[in-house]
Amino acid sequence: MPELPEVETIARGLAKRVNGDVIESVWLSNKKEPFKSAPKQIARTLADTKILDVRRVGKHIVIDLTPVKDDSAKAARQWIVHLGMTGRMLIETPDAAIPKHTHAIAKLTSGRELRFVDPRRFGRLAVSETRFTGPGAEPLDISFEEFAKLFRKRKTPIKSALLNQKLLHGVGNIYADESLFRAGIRPRRQAASLTKAELERLHKAVKEVLREAIKLGGSSVSDYVDSEGREGFFQLQHRVYLRTGEPCLTCKTPIRRIVVAGRGTHYCPKCQK
Ligand SMILES: [Zn+2]
Repeated sequence: MPELPEVETIARGLAKRVNGDVIESVWLSNKKEPFKSAPKQIARTLADTKILDVRRVGKHIVIDLTPVKDDSAKAARQWIVHLGMTGRMLIETPDAAIPKHTHAIAKLTSGRELRFVDPRRFGRLAVSETRFTGPGAEPLDISFEEFAKLFRKRKTPIKSALLNQKLLHGVGNIYADESLFRAGIRPRRQAASLTKAELERLHKAVKEVLREAIKLGGSSVSDYVDSEGREGFFQLQHRVYLRTGEPCLTCKTPIRRIVVAGRGTHYCPKCQK
């Protein structure tokens, strides 16, 4: 599943290629699952709009649009894409073969098409006429005070709290494990039990890990293609994630795997307290 850094990379890639282009019309498949807003509403909302920007909010790709025929600020709208497990946004010429599992095709004035392809159909398309901000705080922007407040009084394991999209949006399994390792905190520790020093380390680690991964262009291990169709990305050197039994890079203790919040969780029993 693409995580925050992959989504950020995809959004930046799309922005470079489609900002300023105009959506002329939209074709949508007859499958139900991919559409969080009614298909008719999506088609109507997207047609005849200019793409102002493409950006990431949590793990969503948000495409800011303005109608070409009515440029009042009130008419602003957004196309919100969640890639789910296998969703991809592709920019193609109309003669490019349309892969099976294509659920949306937006015809652009430039002659290209913006396509949404998703074999497993966990991805979602929606439109919004109010500014989409997502459910939780943005991990790359959050201040230490706000960050610490999220975990105060929370009895759940810190790993579960990091994965809770209502608290922080966009931190997935890989980055939660890697952040906790860098901060030296065990994933099962009760969130409320973290000291100020630990929270400070975690706040710093979450941002560091995400920024490094964005710099490398995402590090998803699933099959995933960026907006230009290039397969695979540089991999962030995972220090604990999926390294079960391998020696810790700091102390050589074998990395342990447990399950927290239903997710495979990796940590060093010596470096993390
Ligand atoms: Zn270690």
